[in-house]
Amino acid sequence: MSRYRETVNQSAEYLRLSLPLMSRQAAALHPISYAVWYEYVAGINPPLKAAIDELSKDGAVLDEASTAELFRKYIAEIDEKTAQRLRAGLHKVLSDMAQSAAHAEDRAELFGQELAQWSEELGGSAADPSVVEGIDRLLFGTREMQGAIAALKERLDESQNEIEMLRQEVGRAREEAIADSLTGLVNRRGFDLALAACLAAIDLAEHGPCLLIADIDHFKKVNDAYGHLFGDKVICSVAKILKANIKGRDTAARYGGEEFVVLLPETTLDGACALAEKIRTTIEASRIRRADNRQEIAQITVSFGVAGYCAGETAREFIDRADGALYVSKNQGRNRVTVAAAGLPRAADAQSRQS
Ligand code: GH3
Ligand code: MG
Ligand code: MG
Repeated sequence: MSRYRETVNQSAEYLRLSLPLMSRQAAALHPISYAVWYEYVAGINPPLKAAIDELSKDGAVLDEASTAELFRKYIAEIDEKTAQRLRAGLHKVLSDMAQSAAHAEDRAELFGQELAQWSEELGGSAADPSVVEGIDRLLFGTREMQGAIAALKERLDESQNEIEMLRQEVGRAREEAIADSLTGLVNRRGFDLALAACLAAIDLAEHGPCLLIADIDHFKKVNDAYGHLFGDKVICSVAKILKANIKGRDTAARYGGEEFVVLLPETTLDGACALAEKIRTTIEASRIRRADNRQEIAQITVSFGVAGYCAGETAREFIDRADGALYVSKNQGRNRVTVAAAGLPRAADAQSRQS
């Protein structure tokens, strides 16, 4: 990880230093506050430090808005691994503190009980009134301390709940950001992430990855003849067939309007072609009815481009080769599967398989 290179001991020390500073602010104790104060005490972000010093001069405290702004401006988009580490780190500190607070609460309770008992025993005897008074003051102080510990425990619990909620929110937001709302497939962004992850782990895969690109034939005519809403229904039906035909680590995505991609991380090129052919015939054989009069409409067909990954090529080159093969399918009459030639990202080099 490039941003944080501290050792475990160093980072533990920064945790210890940042916590009191962080809890003094009006902002809640969430990972964003933590990142800001961690970098502050670690001294690894001088502009952030200068901004905080400026903002908190004269004893001012940082609220949610200014903390978020500092984060956005001086730390900004941290990568996912860093965010996870920060969450885990903060979670650990809070739960350690909750444990310490519980322990302190138990000790204070015991101490209070002992004092009370002692006070009772002394009260019964002819003890010096100033001693009794001193013990009463101690008792009062102990109860105050117990109250403060209970309040701290409560605040820690709240912070932990807040972290858990934030964690879930981040997860939901991430899922939403990569979902296609019409079909429920992954969207283009999600596909790009899946492809990047797949190519990064390429040494581990025995076969593949292979890529299918599918585009609905003459879709404009479907829209023109039956309306846009029906067009949407067709897109959803194609998505459903794709989804039903993939498994395991495969990713089916809606890449654009009526265009789909399927990433097959562990499939041979022959397997990928067979799958494309199966999907093509399934779509060709299916009939979509209009919702209003249940009338069947003209057949829907889909053209495919298939590519097997060639060592060393970029994600873009890989996609372009599959796209080039799709282009050949379209040119040669549609409703067919074309395999891209290895490592030659030009449509002219692809071979079409007539179906
Ligand atoms: P080809 O066989 O060459 O692919 O012809 P085509 O008509 O399918 O291709 P073209 O790219 O000319 O048209 C695609 C059409 O898809 C145009 C656009 O209005 C329609 N479209 C894109 N996104 C959506 C969508 O979300 N819903 C609907 N109903 N139509 C869409
Ligand atoms: Mg089309
Ligand atoms: Mg298209």
